[in-house]
Amino acid sequence: MRYHKIPDETIRRLPIYLRGLLFSSEQGQQSISSHDLADFVRINSAQIRKDFSYFGDFGTPGVGYSIEKLVKQIKRILKLDVIQKAALVGVGNLGSAILAYPGFKMYGFNIAAAFDINPKKIGRKIKLSACDGRSIVIENVSKLPTLKKRGINLAIVAVPRDAAQQIAEALVKAGVKGILNFSPCYIAVPKKVKVITIDIAMDLARLPYYMPAS
Ligand code: NAD
Repeated sequence: MRYHKIPDETIRRLPIYLRGLLFSSEQGQQSISSHDLADFVRINSAQIRKDFSYFGDFGTPGVGYSIEKLVKQIKRILKLDVIQKAALVGVGNLGSAILAYPGFKMYGFNIAAAFDINPKKIGRKIKLSACDGRSIVIENVSKLPTLKKRGINLAIVAVPRDAAQQIAEALVKAGVKGILNFSPCYIAVPKKVKVITIDIAMDLARLPYYMPAS
């Protein structure tokens, strides 16, 4: 189910709220006011109340929002209420760091497969983050077509720019519906597939603009 009424800007903030709520829950809290959540996630409380009103949660005056209920709702909207299996393509410097990153588990992501083209890497066993505790074996990229039957419909692309488009096409053929692209290029996919491109250099490039003149 898609929540068509919820604006993209709100959807973009939901993972931020989710992180704040999960952290508060770990600290033993059961409810939270929009003001406390605002302090924690650094988004103003009026914006938080507006965002939550899109999915009908107005909280309880004097008590605040039920953390459990909100976590459930946000996870359902983001489709994180089911464990999402993801594949990584390209186990180089960045790919290895991604595999070691413990932050995916909190959102219910399971990196279930890793692929590379380098024969020296294929077959190598890689330990995932300590909090995950599992290891995965790097597979030959020619095995991408097996993703569908393994129930993997998300992929992270960390290959060199030249290989990115071809990998994206192979992923789409293998039934992948969402791609997190780290390669510094645009990748063309059919409309039914969502691509989010992340580029640290591009973010860094706009940072000086916001810096005060010295
Ligand atoms: P790397 O050279 O260390 O790793 C690339 C890996 O991809 C290698 O293991 C290589 O064997 C594998 N590969 C190459 N062609 C492939 C193919 N067709 N199929 C499967 N695997 C293939 O490079 P890196 O430093 O890990 O960077 C990876 C990509 O991420 C590059 O495109 C780089 O520009 C980009 N990058 C992006 C960011 C960001 O902020 N988005 C940051 C760092 C790197």
